[in-house]
This record gives sequence, C-alpha cells and structure tokens, in this order.
Amino acid sequence: MTDRVKELERLIRHHQDLYYNHEPEISDAEFDQLWDELKRLKPDSPILETVGADQSDRFAKRAHLMPMHSQDKAADAEAFLRWASRVEHPVYIAQFKMDGASIELQYRDGRFLYGITRGDGRTGDDITANVGRMQGVPPRITPGFSGGVRGEVMMSRTVHREFYPDKANCRNAANGVMKRKDGRGAERLQIICYDAVHEEDDLFFDDEVSKLEWLARQGFRVVEYRQCPTVNDVIVYRDEITRQRETLDFDIDGLVVKGLEIDPDDVRRARPEKQIAFKFALEEQTTVVREVIWSESGHIYTPIAVTDPVRLAGTTVRRANLANPRLIREMGLRIGSTVRITKRGEIIPKIEALVENPQDAREITVPTVCGTCGSTLADEGTRLYCPNMQCAKRALHRVRKWIEVLDIKDFGPVLLQKLFDAGRVRRIHDLYSLTEADIVELERMGEGIARRALRNLFAVSEVSLARFVAGFNIEGIGALIVEKAVRSGYDSLEALRDAEPARLAEQTEGIGEATAGALVEGVRLLYEEMQRVLQTGMISIGNSIESRALAGQSFCFTGALTSMKRSEAEELVRRYGGIPRGSVSEGLTWLVTSDPDANTSKLRKARVLGVSIISEQRFHELLQQLHA
Ligand SMILES: [Zn+2]
Repeated sequence: MTDRVKELERLIRHHQDLYYNHEPEISDAEFDQLWDELKRLKPDSPILETVGADQSDRFAKRAHLMPMHSQDKAADAEAFLRWASRVEHPVYIAQFKMDGASIELQYRDGRFLYGITRGDGRTGDDITANVGRMQGVPPRITPGFSGGVRGEVMMSRTVHREFYPDKANCRNAANGVMKRKDGRGAERLQIICYDAVHEEDDLFFDDEVSKLEWLARQGFRVVEYRQCPTVNDVIVYRDEITRQRETLDFDIDGLVVKGLEIDPDDVRRARPEKQIAFKFALEEQTTVVREVIWSESGHIYTPIAVTDPVRLAGTTVRRANLANPRLIREMGLRIGSTVRITKRGEIIPKIEALVENPQDAREITVPTVCGTCGSTLADEGTRLYCPNMQCAKRALHRVRKWIEVLDIKDFGPVLLQKLFDAGRVRRIHDLYSLTEADIVELERMGEGIARRALRNLFAVSEVSLARFVAGFNIEGIGALIVEKAVRSGYDSLEALRDAEPARLAEQTEGIGEATAGALVEGVRLLYEEMQRVLQTGMISIGNSIESRALAGQSFCFTGALTSMKRSEAEELVRRYGGIPRGSVSEGLTWLVTSDPDANTSKLRKARVLGVSIISEQRFHELLQQLHA
C-alpha cells in the first residue's frame, strides 16, 4: 500500500512537471485517475495540495486600457424601475449578462496584442498566449482601431459536459482552463464581447448598437441583446430569458441594461450610473440529502440526490444532480449531508457545496453491477457505466447517438423509441431500410413526420471517419478524439481496428494510452456493425478532415443562395462543428442571406433578436479564415 502511495506521488509529480513545463505524456483523464487513486489511499498526501491552487502569480501583470469597474445591481423589478426613473433613457439596450470570466482584448492599429484578465480591475494577468487560442478572437481587425475590447471568457455547457464534468460549473471550469500555464484546453473556450473603447477617439462609435454591430463585423462573437423602447419591455425580456435560460448553451445571470447613447464620462466612473446589472432572481438554497438514486441513461449511471423539499426559483425542488461518483467523493457527500444547491439554468438543480456532515451521516453506495446485463460497472470517477458493448441498454442509446452526431433533424427520441419498441430498429443499419410505411404504422406518427424524418436521414450520405466512429457511441470517444487519430495517419476503419494502442498514443498528440485503447477496442468490437451500416449503400465515409472551429455557433440560411445549395452550406457548417438551424430564434449566431439589407420577416426577426446577419460572401470569408 505505502509502496503504491509513493509510486503515485512520484508519478503525479513527474506528470505535473511535464504538464506545466514540457509536453504532457498522458491525458487529463489518466492524470485524474492517478489523482483519484492517491486521494483514496492517502487523502492527506501533501502532493494533493499543490495542484488546483491559484497559480496566477505565474503570469506577468499588465494594466487595462479601460478599468473594469463594478456595476450597480438590481435584484428585482422594483430596484430596476428605481434606477430607470433616475436615468430616463429614451430607449434601453438589454444585453445578456454572461456568467464567465472578464477579459480585455487590447488591439493596436487593428492587431491583437494582449489578453488581460480582470485582476484587481486596473491590472490583470497577461494570458495573451491562451487568449490567442480561444474562439472568437480575430487576430486582425480594421487598422483604424486602437483600444480595448471587453468580453467574457465562456465555456459552453456542451464543452463542460463533455470535457470537464468534474468541475462544479462552467464558470469555474473556464476560469481554471484560461489560467493554465500550458494553455491546454484554451481552444475550447470562447470569448463573447459586449463593449469596446477606442484609445483616443471617444466618438469612434455612434451609439451602443452600432458598437455591437461593428464588433460583429470585425469577427468578434457578440453578446445577444434587444432594444427595448420602454422599461416594461425590459422587464418582459428578462422574464422571457429567465424561462429560456435552461435551453441556452451558456450560463448567464441576468441582463445588463444601458441606454443607446454612449456617455464616455459615465464609462470612466468607478461605478457607472447609466447602466445596471438586472440580475435573475437568486437561485440558491440549503437542503439535506436524504437518498441517492442512480438514473440510467443508456449505459451511463448518474447519481441523483433526493433532498428535503425546498423552494428554488419559483419551484419546489426535491432532487439535485450529483453529476458523477467523483464529485461525491471530492465533496465528501453523504446521506444526511447539508448541502447548498443552485439552479444555474439547468432543469435539475446542482449541488454546489457541502455545508456540513452530521455525526450520523451515512456513506453513499455506488452500484457495482449493471442492472440489465449483470456486467461489473466501470467507475472512471467522472463516469460510471456498463462496459459491455453488447449490453441491451446500449443498443437504443447507440442509435440515438448516431442521429445526434449526424445531426439528423426531425428524427426525435419519441419516434426512435417507438421504432425500437416495435423491433423495427435495433441497430444503426436498421435505420437505412426504413420506409415511410414503417413509421406511419406506428401509433400517432403521420406521413408528414415520416417523410421529414427519412428525408433528413437519407440526406446525410457522406460523413467523415471521425463522425462515423463517434456516432457509434464508444465510451469516451468523441469526434474530436477520432479526428486526432485520423490526422496522425489512422485514416480508415481498418487502420483504427488494427492499430496498436500504445503506438497510436505515442504518435498522436492529445491521446493517452487509455483513450487509444478504448478507441481501438471499440472499433474492433463494433467493426462488423460498422460494416453493416456501410453495406446499406446509403452512407459512406468521406475523407474530409473536420475541425471544430465553428463549435458553439449556429447558422441559418435564408433566401436563394447563389454559390451553393442550402444542404451543401449546412453540411459545411457541420463539417466545422457548427450547428445548422432551420429558423431564426433566440440563440442563433449567424443568419446567412443573399441580401442582408432585405426586409423579410426572417431578417426583421433576426434584427430584433440581435442575430448577426451576413452575406453569402462573408460566410465564405469566415470559412476561409478558419483555414488560415
Ligand atoms: Zn450492461
């Protein structure tokens, strides 16, 4: 036992050194496994205290161009109305208040120079190298601009779920990743901007809206906003957004409300008077964990705490998400623990912290056997799952994953469940022999549904190898990981199946041996099934290399496109990790149209919602920038 502790301490020290000072040799997940094991064997090991501590002293300091001041806050409509009657703006601009980490991007003559964290408001950490790798930071903008662009470093919920499930929330995870000395993971963050100040020219922007439009034109991602003619419109907007929060891919904690007019003197005040943070209602409570149940989604087991009922954000809450076994261990949660729970927009609240454990608190039992097939469950800390590839639990989940990865619209979980229950679809290849009649036969599934679902399914006739493999739902293997292997030469199913995991890991940056093992093993076990999908002749593997450069961005195409078909444009978006959308709605990033000045209802709606409207040509330029 003590030998193993010494070994673990040595390994962790070794990998920490590589991680911070050289090239890492193992994946984050593998490092975490060492960490977890040491924590189990020797919770008071001094090694465990060294990582995760604030390492910001390792960055150089740099002054802000515009001091980051504090903001007045209104927690309810009454306080907001008091402020509004004082300032009397003729029209209000209400922007999402992004719940991330503040950043100032400094530009000189249109070139990106520095990225500075909030720090003490006047001086922050110079994390330029990391910021340069984040999404939404154009290296060059119009040469006429010298000054600061203000934004928030954000981690999307998708990224948080996929890569940092052990971190309590997106903001904590973003904060940690952006300050990593080695910059690892910075490319998964994005910066969403909401303000800019020209160094010398106070009149560079006409008003707040033209400033935001200018930011979008320069290639920044811009915060969503709405122009509200009256105070009441602001209050209604806040209510609307409160309800939509759960569906957004980012955490926001309210609105920032200001006037249309820019007042440079007010902006320089330590606490500007003409804008206010109009926060959502406080959504935090203390309660007691009474029981833990394990919810099964496919082959994954997720712990859910049953708690004493408590009022939170207008609803009575009796359950809270415990995320994974590792979070339970790290927080030291037990049955009987008093905990703090919050609702950050998710439907099920999350446990944020342990308040105290009473004397008689009992340990939480983690299941060890799959309820469906009896296999021993694999406990990876951040994931507890049934490792049996043939487990019936997986079958439906795998087909669902396929539809999700290929982004097949109108083929919802209800339809799939019915096809599954009817025995018509059990494996992915079954999908490709479906007919409209198969679907119409199902209870309450009309011809329209059948036609749309199949049309969208058959429209995807070629996918990259990475997405093909990711669609088979191999544990821990997403398109990103497969893509890395493809890029280092494992560019066919056969090459992946026959690969030597240790060698693949060695040749591929960012893939450790455990991940390589899972990938190779998964392809080997599922190879037959993959072949059967290809043998349908309905879908093939193209050799396009994918990127995730558009991850988190959504595109809607409207009007007649001149350079390509709409389906081709949408496939391009997918290829870069973006999401094609069929309609203009809240949260859409770009609306692409042949005539951005037209006055169609889609465009009008987009303008109201603050969606960036671009021409077809600009869309191509955007893609070209991704290649550069
Ligand atoms: Zn099982």
